[in-house]
Amino acid sequence: GDIADGVSRQVERAGSVVSGAFFEPVIRLGVTGLSRAGKTVFITSLLANLMNRARMGQLRAAADGTIRTAYLQPQPDDTLPRFDYETHLAALIGPAPHWPDSTRAISELRLSLRVQPTGLIAGMRGPRNVHLDIVDYPGEWLLDLSLLEKSFPDWSAETLQRIRGRDQARDFLALLDGTDPDARLDEPQAQALAAAFTGYLRQAREDGFSDCTPGRFLLPGDLAGSPVLTFAPLPPGGGRGSLGREFARRYDAYKREVVKPFFRDHFARIDRQVVLVDALGAIHAGPRAVEDMRRAMGDILSAFQPGRNSFLSQIFRGRRVERILFAATKADHLHHAQHAKLTAIMEALVGDAKSRADYAGARTAAMSIAALRATTEDRVEHAGETLDVVRGVLLEGGKRAAFYPGALPEDPSHLLVPARSGAEGWLDADYEIMRFAPQPLSLKPGEGPPHIRLDRAAEFLIGDRL
Ligand code: GDP
Repeated sequence: GDIADGVSRQVERAGSVVSGAFFEPVIRLGVTGLSRAGKTVFITSLLANLMNRARMGQLRAAADGTIRTAYLQPQPDDTLPRFDYETHLAALIGPAPHWPDSTRAISELRLSLRVQPTGLIAGMRGPRNVHLDIVDYPGEWLLDLSLLEKSFPDWSAETLQRIRGRDQARDFLALLDGTDPDARLDEPQAQALAAAFTGYLRQAREDGFSDCTPGRFLLPGDLAGSPVLTFAPLPPGGGRGSLGREFARRYDAYKREVVKPFFRDHFARIDRQVVLVDALGAIHAGPRAVEDMRRAMGDILSAFQPGRNSFLSQIFRGRRVERILFAATKADHLHHAQHAKLTAIMEALVGDAKSRADYAGARTAAMSIAALRATTEDRVEHAGETLDVVRGVLLEGGKRAAFYPGALPEDPSHLLVPARSGAEGWLDADYEIMRFAPQPLSLKPGEGPPHIRLDRAAEFLIGDRL
């Protein structure tokens, strides 16, 4: 049963905190997604709504009173940064609401739930504690898994091929044109190449592209400026002492010193995972960004199939992530009339990858959510048509207005096969300017911040363990 599972998990994890006289079950929930996908807002709102459960009707244990209390506790890993819940919540629900600072690196927080099942038989069991350890980490770090199986020449060739036609890469490619991989290593030149490549990655990410490896180039943390982050893809070539040889060496060091330790020390310990995806943003950015996102989802998913990768099999040692939720975030940009379409797109996006994860034994689901609802819905007449709109306060200028973001395609496959689609016009109406500020809130006692389907997400992720 659940308790037995928790106990064996806890025993297996010698060294983690065990409070009280009995072993207490721990659920390690990983929260990931590419930068700006909505991780920080998701975790903050989830925690607030688990502590104040009036808006969590679809989380069974909240609705039926099984969860008695929920409170923050010291986290089990003393050397990981703590997720800055209080600051983020104050940003979202304070008097001048604003979006919090985004995830830059890994962080953790423990929420402890005191649960006592209701009902006659269950009521005879005493209350128990279930610890929810939330681990927040950049999705870019997961993409790095694909590097483990690629040599420097392979990775370089693939990357250069992919970015050749991209505007965002123009400066880097120009610099590369004048670079000879066989020339002697010159550190300022190495730094200039790495900086130009990082500039490309940053711009590409900004413009909606998903495949931005190496992940730490975007979010370097305390590795900024170190040799493991000072390389770039190069054409073949490079003898002893050359730029090419040194970049290949640094690339290998990156895999060994940065990528592997993250997977071994953090990723391999996750029980449940939510992958947040700014699908609307990619759809708005256009077919190439959607195609790129689909590929990135495939790469992310391969991280959940230990059987396919010898390094992963070795670190998982038969364990696995039990449940994975793929959530399209920021669904409050769309009237709920379009949410089912968004979910269908999400399902299609992870389609191949999803069936593969199912095969590996994990349960998966796709949903459309908004961790913090910044809009209200309305219908307006416009040019003889009735439009389903959302109203919100614009981040820039602070004006309150109604928006129609455009229509998602009826058939998600149209979106995913650009060649067949013909049109590029999804979400091109008002979507561009729809950057909403969080609404000022006056929460009643017991209420967390307003959301869309955060309770369903929680039910899928942890409901069975409560
Ligand atoms: P992270 O980089 O994954 O941590 O992303 P954040 O959680 O910081 O979110 C990035 C941005 O997306 C925020 O600053 C908001 O502008 C927007 N955002 C995130 N969640 C929501 C949401 O539920 N609704 C709306 N309207 N915007 C959101």
